[in-house]
Amino acid sequence: METPHRSGFVNIVGHPNVGKSTLLNALVGERMSIISNKPQTTRHRIIGLLSGDDFQIVFSDTPGFVRRPSYKMHRSMNQFVNSTFEDADVMVFVTERDDAFTPDDELITQLQKSEVPVLLVLNKMDAAPVSEIDLLERRWREVFTPAEVHRISALKKQGTDTLRQSIVEKLPEGPAWYPKDQISDRPERFFVSEIIREKIFMQYRDEIPYASEVVIESFQDVKTKEGLDLARISATIYVERESQKAILIGHQGASLKKLGSAARVDIERFLERKVFLETHIKIRDNWRDDDRQLKYFGYGS
Ligand code: GDP
Ligand code: MG
Repeated sequence: METPHRSGFVNIVGHPNVGKSTLLNALVGERMSIISNKPQTTRHRIIGLLSGDDFQIVFSDTPGFVRRPSYKMHRSMNQFVNSTFEDADVMVFVTERDDAFTPDDELITQLQKSEVPVLLVLNKMDAAPVSEIDLLERRWREVFTPAEVHRISALKKQGTDTLRQSIVEKLPEGPAWYPKDQISDRPERFFVSEIIREKIFMQYRDEIPYASEVVIESFQDVKTKEGLDLARISATIYVERESQKAILIGHQGASLKKLGSAARVDIERFLERKVFLETHIKIRDNWRDDDRQLKYFGYGS
């Protein structure tokens, strides 16, 4: 008998630091890690695609759930996590030994109310004795009723194949929505700008990272003389003041050069081809408060 094609949305949820991004990387593959393993410089919902001959899983790794929201921003991040409960076919709830919880936790309330199957994933089994994982499982079983329980080590990729198989079995029959070789729903140039932004966060301090925005001006696939694939990328880094521009560039351009090389290495790894990266710096007074500028950078809308 022929197996039907299955496809659907799977949301990976859980408290911060339990290994959600590590699991997404283990399932989707190494290229994904360049994106999802960053410190939270991004508040976007990261979507990863995992396809096989007879399935396609659309994963999303939500930003961490903030337990006691104190800012408007936190509240909107939480709303965003709540909204993932509405469009999922399967929920993967990740936890580990040191994951404390309180009964009034909103995420837990949502797990209890979930109408789609919730897989309870006990992660980091490489780092805890079996007795403690048993205890962890019992504790969570008192809180909600999982459809299945999986013990895994996302880091060591133990139990992750079995987890993937169970996820696929629970998906509805349906076609693939994305080309099967694609690993994300976002365009490559989005990741390129995120990689450059990450390097700015790593290399500069104080207000520089926050005052910087990266725009990919052009992205062309060409062939080198030797016939190799090459991506020619031109990026502009926007800052707010002349003094910030000077810091970004550094003495005789040394800092900008260092930034460019570090970014290029990761971009080449991500694109799996050679990269020629050109960076420019422009000043936009007060862009963080300028509606038109914000719109140009893709905020809002
Ligand atoms: P997230 O905040 O839920 O996305 O968690 P991360 O995936 O960023 O992981 C948080 C930390 O836990 C990182 O230091 C990971 O290396 C570590 N970690 C994740 N999975 C495992 C695992 O299976 N075993 C061990 N020992 N550490 C893990
Ligand atoms: Mg994460």
